[in-house]
Amino acid sequence: MTVASLKGSQPYGEIGQDMHRLMADLYPLCRSITGDGLRETLRIVSNHIPLKAYEVPTGTPVFDWTVPREWNIVAAYIKNSKGEKILDFGHSNLHVVNYSVPVRKKLFLKELKEHLFTLPEHPDWIPYRTSYYQENWGFCMAHNQYQRLEEDEYEVVIDSSLSDGDLTYGEYYLKGQSADEVLISCHICHPSLCNDNLSGLSLSVFLAKYVGSLERRYSYRFLFIPATIGSITWLARNEAQVGKIKHGLVITCVGDPGKSTYKKSRQGDAEIDRAMMHVLKHSGADYEIAEFIPYGYDERQYASPGFNLPVGCLMRTPNGRFPEYHTSADNLDFVRPDYLEDSFAKAVSALSILETNKTYLNQNPKCEPQLGKRGLYRATGGENERSREMTLLWVLNLSDGQHSLLDIAERSGLRFDSVGMAASELLAHGLLAEIHSS
Ligand code: ZN
Repeated sequence: MTVASLKGSQPYGEIGQDMHRLMADLYPLCRSITGDGLRETLRIVSNHIPLKAYEVPTGTPVFDWTVPREWNIVAAYIKNSKGEKILDFGHSNLHVVNYSVPVRKKLFLKELKEHLFTLPEHPDWIPYRTSYYQENWGFCMAHNQYQRLEEDEYEVVIDSSLSDGDLTYGEYYLKGQSADEVLISCHICHPSLCNDNLSGLSLSVFLAKYVGSLERRYSYRFLFIPATIGSITWLARNEAQVGKIKHGLVITCVGDPGKSTYKKSRQGDAEIDRAMMHVLKHSGADYEIAEFIPYGYDERQYASPGFNLPVGCLMRTPNGRFPEYHTSADNLDFVRPDYLEDSFAKAVSALSILETNKTYLNQNPKCEPQLGKRGLYRATGGENERSREMTLLWVLNLSDGQHSLLDIAERSGLRFDSVGMAASELLAHGLLAEIHSS
């Protein structure tokens, strides 16, 4: 992976559009933490990357949890007494509370209202509700429609099933020179929601394609899992090998117009934290760094004390902080190709730092080497040349075996890619030697 390849304003062609197109393909599916929506999602993803789908049977104990029964849904609606469908799952899969048990009954408005969910503050939007671990059923609708409901006898049908089956997740492994791994994890369990769910999924797919096309120092493991129960299940099944994970990122909410946000790992000063913060600091755009809290996405499972994996979370606007969050307004218009591409570029930049962040030893440590006689000092240079020389001097000075290139970038305030290029130049002239850690 070269650092130089990250330069330029549009380095990835139409990748933002490509990510958005994949989201559009996945958007109509009714996903949940189990079920055919997940399988179909992974099938579509497998058109892009050859991931492996796993099925874990209902009832499997996973640490303190149990793999739940599998939920599927065919259709659902509410009809008035004239037989008119006033709400139809076919129009939006958000209309049904996710994991609703099957229902077929007639009831009056008062009783129906106990099973209706709306968002009075955004009366045109349909909320997204789930009831995974408590048997229940319900419908979600626009508050405007709710207010127009008349006294009537309604027929409600939820043609769903909740039965023994499997929990489905996908995994894609890319072998690198080292068995040490970078973990990229995204959740895939939300139905038609874009920023929260599909943006992270799509970015991860294109990141996997991109990383797969490069020579790699690290091995990469991409997880496409239902939130919470998926990461718990994966950790329970892979406990023996999680020690290989040296760096990790949960990717979610990366397509909205907000500024980039990086939530630090539990460790707070892991290499991924420093790499991601360096990228955002030098991005030229506004950004936010959030401290770790044991809430949010799957980073909280990876960061449980029994694992304490160095996994941060890359977002734009965090969950719950944009009004469209968990509503029908988190749709394909809310996430835009430009923002997806910007998030993608930042993720790639951080991975590039991890790939090339090595520690070197100055081979001429007693006083400065004479750069001029090696052609490294160019007397005619202007501002760029002076900053290049300054970078060479920083790298020479701090390459005492104790400072990695990222340490040097941070201490000098220089960009990591400049530091990396200076190191390449010095290596080529025999002035640096790589230190191989074990
Ligand atoms: Zn969510």
